[in-house]
Amino acid sequence: MRRSLSVMDMDTKLFRAIEAREADLIALTQDLIRIPTLNPPGRHYGDICDFLAARLKDKGFEVVLVRAHGAPADSDKYPRWNLVARREGSGPGECVHFNSHHDVVAVGHGWTVDPFGGELKDGRVYGRGACDMKGGLAASVIAAEAFVDTFPDFAGAIEISATADEETGGYGGVAFLAEQGYFAPERVQHVIIPEPLNKDRICLGHRGVWWAEIETHGRIAHGSMPFLGDCAVRHMGAVLREMETHLFPLLASKHTAMPVVPDGARQSTMNINSIHGGEPVQEADFTGFPAACVPDRCKITIDRRYLIEESADEVKGEIVALLEKVKAERPNFSYELKELWTVSPTMTDRDAPVVTTVAAAIEKVLARQADYVVSPGTYDQKHIDRIGKLKNCIAYGPGILDLAHQPDEWVGVQDMIDSAKVMALTLAELLLSPGNQA
Ligand SMILES: [Zn+2]
Repeated sequence: MRRSLSVMDMDTKLFRAIEAREADLIALTQDLIRIPTLNPPGRHYGDICDFLAARLKDKGFEVVLVRAHGAPADSDKYPRWNLVARREGSGPGECVHFNSHHDVVAVGHGWTVDPFGGELKDGRVYGRGACDMKGGLAASVIAAEAFVDTFPDFAGAIEISATADEETGGYGGVAFLAEQGYFAPERVQHVIIPEPLNKDRICLGHRGVWWAEIETHGRIAHGSMPFLGDCAVRHMGAVLREMETHLFPLLASKHTAMPVVPDGARQSTMNINSIHGGEPVQEADFTGFPAACVPDRCKITIDRRYLIEESADEVKGEIVALLEKVKAERPNFSYELKELWTVSPTMTDRDAPVVTTVAAAIEKVLARQADYVVSPGTYDQKHIDRIGKLKNCIAYGPGILDLAHQPDEWVGVQDMIDSAKVMALTLAELLLSPGNQA
């Protein structure tokens, strides 16, 4: 479906409809920020879904609320609520779905504004989740509402979802909905996730993830006679030394053709998330000395991010080979390796319809060519791809990537307006057949 006649007029109409909603867009973003949907543990998920349900029902959307019963972390105290709203057009056609997660991460230190105040200052709305990703959610709602009001006779359907738990893996959110068939290719044909990737960039996908725990073993003894025990921390030291001298240089030498941003992530990377050895950390109100013991356990958690050119088996194989090498060289060395979590890399084709349509819209709105990027970390696209089997999916939204999860997080009003225009133009291109033009 391509629009032909008076495209200029139609674009102008849509742009005006978005600009006329600027105050509404700001207020909506503020209202969303003021519902503190902190995750963990998953607070106020029901409240934010109810709030959006009321608004979207008013605009003619059919709304369903879906609780992810049985998903990790779902409980009566912290139920995992999700919202899916659908607006049918006046005839058959494709469905464009905007998916935003409604959860936000912990506040942390260093704020100079109220993290849940939604303060508007110098063209920015501040608050936890402003950029990641309530600003993107608000922009998609305004884009859909402006489009529907301007072209009520569109073909196909528009869906907006607000989903739980993206910040903790998305199992009570998009993964659950995908398992229920909400992203089945016969129901939804195009997905845009308004994550903060900057308004002139199209994010095609993300690198893979492999998390694992490595534990080294020792034997407890009195700390004054360590030779009678076996120190698990020293064994772990040998593992870390092997990583420093061989593994990290190897990872730095593996480059990818994926356009990952920032540049530092255009290679394999690994973080050591944590290290624990010996006695547990003392309670804050305990002021005495620790006891003198040789540690018999030491554990690290590693977070390996891998490339589309690698496989999870290869990644695991590297770690196993490293541990076996230490074992062969070091007396009394024993270890356990436990895999925690694997996510495959995903990347949508540059010529997929949602990509080319959004790229053309970016060019119209911003008068420059879109950049194509891949995210260093994962987001809900993994579930839409793997469970939903839907490849025509990107992330595109107004937030600035570097501000995500930071203190004094904000989203720019102009950035939201611009990205809402891009989203609305995308709807026009995909859902207006020539016959539908008013
Ligand atoms: Zn996010």
